[in-house]
Amino acid sequence: MHEASIALALIDVANDVLREHGAARAQGLTVRIGQWSSVVPEALQAAFPACALGTGLEGARLSIVTVPGVGECRAHGAVELELTRGLRCPLCGLPTPMLLQGDELELDEVELVPGLTGSELIRAAPELPAPELPAPGLTDEEFAEVEKLIERDRSPQPDRDIDFD
Ligand SMILES: [Zn+2]
Repeated sequence: MHEASIALALIDVANDVLREHGAARAQGLTVRIGQWSSVVPEALQAAFPACALGTGLEGARLSIVTVPGVGECRAHGAVELELTRGLRCPLCGLPTPMLLQGDELELDEVELVPGLTGSELIRAAPELPAPELPAPGLTDEEFAEVEKLIERDRSPQPDRDIDFD
């Protein structure tokens, strides 16, 4: 199960953080998950307790912060994406193949059991295995369109004005 392996990876990283701080246990873990990552928060919540058994994270509370998707529109710059519209600018409908945010899977905070060390809250941003980038709602034709846009960016072109309205 995808989320179980993510839970195990998170727990591994969090246990490293505990070790670095000479702490035996944590009581909470905060994870940032992009709305456009392939991670299902509910499934991660469900997988976490069993995966944490026997580690310093056993019994710890898992808090998940959802990060909305932000894409880059060629006409409007950074725009917040809507899941139902796919990787497209909500203002003009142009494809926004590059996510500026929203595909993250990050361990944000490890809350140690109080009294073990001076600092009870550790901010951590360790590298986790990158999640696969999903493309919900993007059809083959849209992918082709995105590829064309990328292709056009690669080839030298005379400056020209494009009217998106
Ligand atoms: Zn736009």
